[in-house]
Amino acid sequence: MRRLVHALPVAYAAGALYLAHCALASLQHGAPPYTAGLAACSLLLLASAAHHYLSRAEVRIAVAQLEIAARPFTTAQDTAVARLMTTPCCEAWWSAVGGEHQCTRKDQTT
Ligand SMILES: [Zn+2]
Repeated sequence: MRRLVHALPVAYAAGALYLAHCALASLQHGAPPYTAGLAACSLLLLASAAHHYLSRAEVRIAVAQLEIAARPFTTAQDTAVARLMTTPCCEAWWSAVGGEHQCTRKDQTT
């Protein structure tokens, strides 16, 4: 299936070239309406190939972003932040986002 997806823009481009050739042949035989129609179809196929290429690039970027988001914490700083974010000491901690705060915990001695 993947090979077919890769071959599709090449097929679009080949079809566009063929239609451009047909448009040129129509022009040489004095058929302007057919020339215009075939040229428009050729451009349409070229636009489809470009759209396909851009869509694949967007999918590649989205997959890369998902892989980054799904990656576990790796650095010491990441793990320290993750530990801090999952261990709040009191309600004021949430307002300070783990930073300096006046602790409101009842068993707090300092
Ligand atoms: Zn606190």
